[in-house]
Amino acid sequence: MKTFPLTREQTEALTKDFPTPFHLYDEAAIRDNARRLTQAFSILPGFREHFAVKAAPNPFLLKILAAEGFGADCSSLAELRLCEAAGLPGDRIIFTSNETPDDEFREARRLGAVINLDDITLIDALAAATGSLPDTLCFRYNPGPLKAGNAIIGHPEEAKYGLTRDQLFDAFVRARDLGVETFGLHTMVVSNELDEQYHIETARMLFELAVELKDRLGLRLAFVNTGGGIGIPYRPDEKPVDYDVIARGARRAYDELIVPAGLDPLAFHMECGRAITGPYGWLVTRAIRRKETYRSYIGVDASMANLMRPGMYGAYHHLTVLGKESAPAAKTYDVVGSLCENCDKFAIQRKLPEIEMGDLLVIHDTGAHGHAMGYNYNGKTRSAELLLRSDGSVVPIRRAETLDDLFATLDLPALPGFQ
Ligand SMILES: *Cc1c(COP(=O)(O)O)cnc(C)c1O
Repeated sequence: MKTFPLTREQTEALTKDFPTPFHLYDEAAIRDNARRLTQAFSILPGFREHFAVKAAPNPFLLKILAAEGFGADCSSLAELRLCEAAGLPGDRIIFTSNETPDDEFREARRLGAVINLDDITLIDALAAATGSLPDTLCFRYNPGPLKAGNAIIGHPEEAKYGLTRDQLFDAFVRARDLGVETFGLHTMVVSNELDEQYHIETARMLFELAVELKDRLGLRLAFVNTGGGIGIPYRPDEKPVDYDVIARGARRAYDELIVPAGLDPLAFHMECGRAITGPYGWLVTRAIRRKETYRSYIGVDASMANLMRPGMYGAYHHLTVLGKESAPAAKTYDVVGSLCENCDKFAIQRKLPEIEMGDLLVIHDTGAHGHAMGYNYNGKTRSAELLLRSDGSVVPIRRAETLDDLFATLDLPALPGFQ
């Protein structure tokens, strides 16, 4: 069963200070999850999880995860700055970007982040942009038709990311010739994948390549990074991923491939986002309108501006009506926001308890790729983010946007004189 950490009364009280809609994150649950992940993967040498900042780009959350020993995975200038604000040291930041602008390379170098290159041409581009190459470089591998993808990420050969197999070997040689000393190998081939075997296969694929790099080039990798993509059970009947199964499977592959090749220790890195914070965030919204036409609609005060996944991917997000958790699901509703976009629907033909105006609705699993993906179409402002601290208090970690924020890029005083 999907739960929400506050009662209806507690949530109503909260809305006096923080009007709906808002995202709420559960610190204790995030920390507990981080510790379970770290514990499970501690059987792999040099394990480190780099939280994918894009999933929840809030420096307060980054600080919590940093305190749990996590690093961060960035792909833009803003994400690098957020890591700096959260106090993450450069050696715990991996910069996995693509089509990277020069100024982002410069910023990554300034912070001392580990740079993960998405293309062979970026070796020279990085050197040109920053005046030199760093001591450490990582390359992102795209296995193309050699590996089946999954539904969300699609087929690797259609993905814009990463180097081909041949390019990868050339890239390591070129980087080594140019003086790079420490090497990493990265890939990211699945997204929101609940099948542990996929993740084990990804680790195995990188281990096999590590051995081949040694055999063909005499090159010894310092780390592999299997990317993100561990899924979460958005639907109540789905089963959460078992971290121990992935870790043990990866360890078995490590013992079969890496140890006999004399490549032990090879550090094992990941950069999950969704699995880290996804299930521990919720979008809280209020039912404000009811409409009966060809369907029964419940209009809420949140919209796609606050959570894009259902509209963008047709993604399922579980929805509960606070205080009516055990009421019979006697009605069928479309639960919708107010955008002039028909995909602005949080639930379609969903069986739910009867909803009255003013009811608080909780949209589950919005802790990753939730607030972060929001946008300002129709001039809708994005909501606040609140943190339920481990001590039970609730603090704002981002205020809601205002119209002044929205209009800040317009020079409104110039308007009266404008012809
Ligand atoms: C998005 C992304 C991640 C995180 O993906 P999740 O599905 O949130 O785990 C990690 N690495 C890269 C390169 C990404 O683009």
